[in-house]
Amino acid sequence: MKILVTGGAGYIGSHVLKRLLEAGHDTVTLDNLSKGHKEAVLGGKFIEGDIGDKELLDSIFTEHDIEGVIHLAADSLVGESMEDPGKYYHNNVAKALNLLEAVVENNVNYFVFSSTAAVYGEPEAVPIVEEHPTNPENVYGESKLFFEKILKRYDEIHGLKYISLRYFNAAGADPEGKIGEAHDPETHLIPIVLQTALGIRDKIYIYGDDYPTKDGSCVRDYIHVNDLADAHLLAVEALADGKNSDIYNLGCGDGYSVKEVIETAKKVTQKDFEVEVSERRAGDPAVLIAGSEKIKDHLGWQPEYQDLEKIISTAWKWHKSGGFRDE
Ligand code: UDP
Repeated sequence: MKILVTGGAGYIGSHVLKRLLEAGHDTVTLDNLSKGHKEAVLGGKFIEGDIGDKELLDSIFTEHDIEGVIHLAADSLVGESMEDPGKYYHNNVAKALNLLEAVVENNVNYFVFSSTAAVYGEPEAVPIVEEHPTNPENVYGESKLFFEKILKRYDEIHGLKYISLRYFNAAGADPEGKIGEAHDPETHLIPIVLQTALGIRDKIYIYGDDYPTKDGSCVRDYIHVNDLADAHLLAVEALADGKNSDIYNLGCGDGYSVKEVIETAKKVTQKDFEVEVSERRAGDPAVLIAGSEKIKDHLGWQPEYQDLEKIISTAWKWHKSGGFRDE
């Protein structure tokens, strides 16, 4: 089928795009390259532009016979969202709504949305299942939750079929080595640890070690980006097969603390480096671990990378290679 991928030049988007192409789908990637990399778009048609540009969207839908949209273009930094909330409400809600209006007006029926575990906030019980109450602790998570609510209404009112995928912590890189994580500035734990191992940074800071967790540092569920990509492929194909709208978690179901990630990275890279404990970061829940049984059950999704060492090894291969050359 012909699929529009917004944010397809980004970290997760480029891996999703690769999977779609491998599965034989036709793609159009729309990305404003504010954070993405053109070299990460490994095939299909690429259009540089913004999801806030209604005219551009209409022209894309008129020119291409788009059947489904996978929407990943968004801002995604917890810390930044607590400093500049307007940016998050504007880009992740207002501009996304602009896209959704174009989708409905142009009779596109299937929509896959890149959501986040941050919609849950501090969990009342782990693993977190989809029925868990949503109480985002940060503006990023709230912006994604707002859009999920909009999607639900668009299904009720316009009959749009959507699947919302609530990612836990995306990590790793495609083992072929052509694409990987490359944010500027980088804020995510695993790439920062690996940059420290490479000597690009002097030390790694642990944001708080007084959380109520096994070793005091925050616990997260790291999921390989190719496993995430598989879920998008399954989701868009399921919608085209008549599946109803739904919301799914995506994680491995294992929780690793920041300290464990650092220790595993030291083992994988065989490098020692300085680690310092600093203040907590605003908006960080102590523990986020996914219950992902629902997507396994409904869509037959199975993560291939169940082991943190394997996930970090794929990221290490990418970081050692120097990443994208345009940086
Ligand atoms: N973290 C940290 N030091 C860093 C970057 C992140 O201790 O330099 C922690 C962060 O507080 C969180 C975990 O690592 O508990 C994962 O953070 P990341 O930004 O990678 O993903 P998020 O959970 O925010 O989506």
